Amino acid sequence: MPDMSYSAEISISDDEPCACGSCGWRGPAGLLKEIEDCALDPGDASPAGRCSECDSLAYLDRPADRVREAAPALREALAEMAQLLVDIDEAGGFAILRRRFLKFPDDKGAKRYLAAHDRISAADAKARAALTATE
Ligand SMILES: [Zn+2]
Repeated sequence: MPDMSYSAEISISDDEPCACGSCGWRGPAGLLKEIEDCALDPGDASPAGRCSECDSLAYLDRPADRVREAAPALREALAEMAQLLVDIDEAGGFAILRRRFLKFPDDKGAKRYLAAHDRISAADAKARAALTATE
């Protein structure tokens, strides 16, 4: 890949909320320091300045950016939860609840378990669809 460099002018208002990519500092853009030189890969978020606490690159702190930043951890948690449901199912956990319902269809506890099973199945399907969409 060719080694390319360019200069960029950043224009944001001083009160835009920003967050440090390293130390967790949050504050208005007006407190950021100038970036001067930095290396970015294509696709990296554009930094807004340098953190006044630790000198790392800081970025606009918008809800969409926070979701994007949290996406890998959310994806991992979702995959773990989906696997947990498979483990419970394979351990016969759901079958036990279903047998109890079939044996005692009027039992309130069994009905509640069955309703929970349906919700868990729906949540599992939703999680799998969301995970598939990110592959
Ligand atoms: Zn920092």
